[in-house]
Amino acid sequence: MADYKIVLLKGDGIGPEIVNQAVKVLDKAGEKFGFSIEYDEALLGGCAIDATGVPLPDETVEKCKNADSVLLGAVGGPKWDNQPGNNRPEAGLLGIRGALGLFANLRPAVIFEPLKEASPVKDEIINGALDIMIVRELTGGIYFGEKGRKEVNGQPAAYDTEMYTVPEIERIVRVAFDLAMKRNKKLTSVDKANVLESSRLWRETVIRISKEYPEVELNHLYVDNCAMQLVINPKQFDVIVTSNIFGDILSDEASMISGSIGMLASASLSEGKSGLYEPIHGSAPDIAGKGIANPLATILSAGMMLKYSLDRPEAAEAIEKAVNKVLKEYRTPDIYEEGTKKVTCEEMGDLVCAAL
Ligand code: NAD
Repeated sequence: MADYKIVLLKGDGIGPEIVNQAVKVLDKAGEKFGFSIEYDEALLGGCAIDATGVPLPDETVEKCKNADSVLLGAVGGPKWDNQPGNNRPEAGLLGIRGALGLFANLRPAVIFEPLKEASPVKDEIINGALDIMIVRELTGGIYFGEKGRKEVNGQPAAYDTEMYTVPEIERIVRVAFDLAMKRNKKLTSVDKANVLESSRLWRETVIRISKEYPEVELNHLYVDNCAMQLVINPKQFDVIVTSNIFGDILSDEASMISGSIGMLASASLSEGKSGLYEPIHGSAPDIAGKGIANPLATILSAGMMLKYSLDRPEAAEAIEKAVNKVLKEYRTPDIYEEGTKKVTCEEMGDLVCAAL
């Protein structure tokens, strides 16, 4: 019997090609570090709509719940753009996050040294490298609060509600403090406590939980200031923790500092060890099937899986190092620079395996 059981949700567009490369790298890491993985595949997104009529079949949820972890490619594409909202490929994505109780979204904003030229931020600010971890609450707040339409003074109006319970704040904040302990022991909590009551409760809770982590240096920033600081002084950050809506916006901003959408990984965690790992980019229908997609975001997502779900931090680190090494010489077209060699999606997977 294999040591771990992983479900692959390859999805649509470039999903299958990039997940296949990540599987090769996972197997190579297993060979090197002495563990084995058994894979099962399940349908999510457009391919699931084609096969079953719905973007998230019950069988997929069952398989994912029974696995040690889940690796996702990407979903969506023009073929399914005319589906009604609740039956679009992306509805499958929200559905699986909910079904697995994935409340913590971890998005590293990393600049790999060989790719520093791709960053839109000046090198004197980045100074060669950047490594921020954004921890976003994923299942609460304004995206899930009470919402509706009504009339105000005879005029049509609409409202959404930001609400957090103390246990919801506590669990995401603990994830962030635990991560900070494993990194540079610095945590920035982002809120809007000058105007929002929900933010004041957020801040009180963060301060209370911080007593359990005396070694972590904690500071608080208002979200508008944080958005500015990410551009003018991103190196001040180690781990950032914030609510669903603020995290949605800040994590996109931070990831763009790296300048390469094909390089960015993510993890979504539930209580316990299981999680769902995926690149932050979409299904890139414009290049699907051409064999030129960059598989590194998915490979790095598999690396995060080894670190956070499978307790194999040494294998995760080896993958990161292998990626850094390969990037010095080889590039897929999206990150190509003169002086490097252009390779296909599959060649990139093979090169990372060889560097491992
Ligand atoms: P996208 O991320 O798919 O593509 C944006 C651009 O980046 C495209 O030019 C694409 O070719 C390029 N790109 C993305 N990933 C790349 C990679 N690995 N290698 C090389 N180039 C890459 O975003 P989009 O075009 O706005 O959306 C396309 C589809 O993906 C839509 O149906 C959208 O709903 C869906 N989508 C899915 C997810 C997800 O599955 N998590 C996320 C975002 C978008």
